[in-house]
Amino acid sequence: RFPAQTPRSGRSRLLVLAGPTAVGKGTVAAHIRENHPEIHLSVSATTRPPRPGEIDGVHYFFVDDAEFDRLIAEGALLEYAVVHNRSRYGTPRAPIDKALSEGKTVLLEIDLQGARQVHAAEPSATLIFLLPPSWDELVDRLVGRGTEDDEERARRLRTAKVELAAQSEFDYRIVNEDVATAAREVVELSEATAR
Ligand code: 5GP
Repeated sequence: RFPAQTPRSGRSRLLVLAGPTAVGKGTVAAHIRENHPEIHLSVSATTRPPRPGEIDGVHYFFVDDAEFDRLIAEGALLEYAVVHNRSRYGTPRAPIDKALSEGKTVLLEIDLQGARQVHAAEPSATLIFLLPPSWDELVDRLVGRGTEDDEERARRLRTAKVELAAQSEFDYRIVNEDVATAAREVVELSEATAR
């Protein structure tokens, strides 16, 4: 766990934050968006409808299926995947290239399938896996969130088990005990790997 781990030598300003469902990736990313303007947080395109309070262009680019197809066809996405068997999500390539060319650190908060695609496309990217403090805590968070029905929750927990097993593919692991600490550790890691 960071900071006990030493930064890899193949340094990169492209960071990927992934982890199992309900671990709090989105909350950690939101905390970084609000408190660390020096980090460019990638805005994904998605076909899922906006939730209350979500702003187009800030939280996601909300697009329809035809538009998503067009982005794929144009090669505009660095990676894309169907998440939770439902909507499609993808990372627009151009804003990332621009931010990297300006010397900024770029953070992607994406699912595991996306993380693997980025690793394949950009082997120097730094992969960070966000872990729950415990399995019970992960279950509590998923139940407490109350956004899924029983069947969907059971399905996501099965997915989470498989996802947790993928942590060994990652360069770093951060335990999401509390959001501010986890966010700080991500930022420290970004500084260490960019040096
Ligand atoms: P939500 O719909 O709750 O905002 O996000 C659902 C899942 O989609 C999260 O696990 C999030 O990490 C993932 N996700 C968000 N954007 C992207 C993306 O651009 N690519 C991939 N592969 N996954 C994404």
